[in-house]
Amino acid sequence: MDKTLPVEGKFELMALPYAPDALEPVISAETLGFHHGKHLAAYVNNLNAALPGTGLENMALEDVFMNVGDGTFFNNAGQILNHNLYFSQFMPPKADNAPTGRLAEAIEAEFGSFEAFKEIFTKTGAALFGSGWVWLAADDKDNLVITQEANASNPMRRNLRPLMTMDVWEHAYYLDYQNRRPDHLAALWQIINWDVVAERYRK
Ligand code: MN
Repeated sequence: MDKTLPVEGKFELMALPYAPDALEPVISAETLGFHHGKHLAAYVNNLNAALPGTGLENMALEDVFMNVGDGTFFNNAGQILNHNLYFSQFMPPKADNAPTGRLAEAIEAEFGSFEAFKEIFTKTGAALFGSGWVWLAADDKDNLVITQEANASNPMRRNLRPLMTMDVWEHAYYLDYQNRRPDHLAALWQIINWDVVAERYRK
């Protein structure tokens, strides 16, 4: 995975690779506006505000997350990394959306079928207590694994490569789905850009 470097000691809010209403009705423009423009922006601002004078000003985001304890730096760097991976893996809704090629074969080998994988992944996300993330990740032999990560963590802390994720913090779905987290997770399968996920798997 390419590292994310600060520019003059500051990290930038990622630009969304689609229009604010492009993911409707799965994710509304309103939810996307708050999630990207307020929540992610706050993590970026918090990290940038904490950096001056620490000696970490030129460190890559990934290295801050991996190496600088478990407090403010870990939380904000982790949330920036997680949201950058999350927002960049979506596309407008597509019926019968599914991976192809080597990634599809790996999913079938590990989970039996794509349908079985989706069911296990969605259940894992629905069962995560409190705030966090459910991930598809790969180990150094390219074997696939689903992990639950609390709060700001991600599979890099388990020496796994993050491939695809669903955000189960309430801010990700409450405006559109209220308490119905499983419905939100089930709908997200329509907007996963599997080409982006396959590219992460290839590296
Ligand atoms: Mn979020």
